Amino acid sequence: MKPLRVLSVASEIYPLIKTGGLADVTGALPKALKSEGIEARTVVPGYPDVLNELESADEVLRFPNFYGGPARVLSCSMAELDLFILDAPHLFARPGNPYVAPDGADWPDNAIRFAALGRTAAEIGEGAIPAFVPHVVHAHDWQAGLTPAFLHYSERPRPGTIMTVHNLAYQGKFPREMLRDIGLPPESFTIDGVEYYGGIGFLKAGLQFADRITTVSPTYAVEIQEPDAGMGLDGLLRARSDVLSGILNGIDIAVWNPGTDPRIASPFGVNTLADRAANKTALQRRFDLPLAPDAFLLGVISRLSWQKGLDLLLESLPLALCKGVQLVLLGNGDRDLEARYIAATKSYPDQIGVLIGYDENLAHLIQAGADALVVPSRFEPCGLTQLCALRYGAIPIVSRVGGLADTVIDANEMTIPAGVATGIQFGPVTSENLTGAVRRAKGLFHNKPAWQRIQKNGMTVDVAWHNRARHYADLYRQIAKPD
Ligand code: ADP
Repeated sequence: MKPLRVLSVASEIYPLIKTGGLADVTGALPKALKSEGIEARTVVPGYPDVLNELESADEVLRFPNFYGGPARVLSCSMAELDLFILDAPHLFARPGNPYVAPDGADWPDNAIRFAALGRTAAEIGEGAIPAFVPHVVHAHDWQAGLTPAFLHYSERPRPGTIMTVHNLAYQGKFPREMLRDIGLPPESFTIDGVEYYGGIGFLKAGLQFADRITTVSPTYAVEIQEPDAGMGLDGLLRARSDVLSGILNGIDIAVWNPGTDPRIASPFGVNTLADRAANKTALQRRFDLPLAPDAFLLGVISRLSWQKGLDLLLESLPLALCKGVQLVLLGNGDRDLEARYIAATKSYPDQIGVLIGYDENLAHLIQAGADALVVPSRFEPCGLTQLCALRYGAIPIVSRVGGLADTVIDANEMTIPAGVATGIQFGPVTSENLTGAVRRAKGLFHNKPAWQRIQKNGMTVDVAWHNRARHYADLYRQIAKPD
């Protein structure tokens, strides 16, 4: 089969710049696509974290005045990724979080910054770099959402387009007065264009104009067509349901491999589960908790936001955290939640350990050492931590929403004997039901043969990208612009 060229458009990409699951996906998918005969390159902004890693690059495009300053596009390969980097210092030479200024507020020119990303992708899509003219352009989340719109309003032949929603809660809505500065024509400001509740909707634009829309799990693809999870875009998504599908995320099983992981204390596998115990001890030591091998150790690795339901976990602590239960939490985000978790360590000093921050190494140790991973999200497009948990033998305790519903099989009277249970699910998402789920998990934990069976079932679930990437490859082939 002839290789198909795909340009991925992303505001973050692992391992160069990451705030969440989006980066994991945009970093892993291009590699997985190689075995599908897809040549994928990714256009990313030239943040300092990206440019500092650069060893050599070719300048392949130059814009003397691009959204208020000079810019160029660099072509390079690094960290096993083939990249086009949009080097525009006036927009991206800002360290730290890619979206948020040091004062915690969004950068005031985010509309311009990510319009520039979308515009660059559209130019490449139309053939501005002859060495790589894509058959398909794949835009990820609102930051890339204008790409299909720029292509739509251009007169030139265009590639096929896909818009992937990683989280519908982030929509990129900006004042209508910015239309000109963004570089869209006046006629684009209509309900069938980029207009969105009186402003300009970046994600809306992508959903409106892309040939195909995907999201990151089949259940979330259904949920977002309803008002609750649809968050203002459900009408458009219903109208376009014939081109909307859900493709589950995978994880990079080379990075997340308990048998070879250099970030954990003791490697282990499905047939050497006893070796897992040393990770539990290391984790308890790291969080200054009693080194109790028989404690039921819960782990959380998460952004602290309303979406993730971690306020519900706080509410359930008095009942869920009974004797013999410990909890370690790694996360950051909402300042109030951070403070409440720190306060909880004072109330339960022997049972709760909290680390506020972002720590990739510690995330691996939690997956390897915790008995169960708690993910009580109110909504969850796919969720990646429960996939890592499955692979590392930490039994996921999850709410029954979105991708969590699609990736965990609840342990009950039917699924345990049938040998298919992989975790605990609860719903509706309330603190009472979460408490019940933790207690149910603790009951199972004390039944060692059943617990180990569930661990082993989870560890052998296919969570790799390979089979998921095939679904993207199929979609690309359906919409590819012919040569
Ligand atoms: P989301 O993208 O909504 O934050 P996902 O579950 O899809 O949630 O992906 C989160 C990713 O970020 C996972 O790879 C997870 O391990 C990682 N992560 C989240 N918070 C932290 C943290 N505080 N430290 C290290 N890794 C984290």
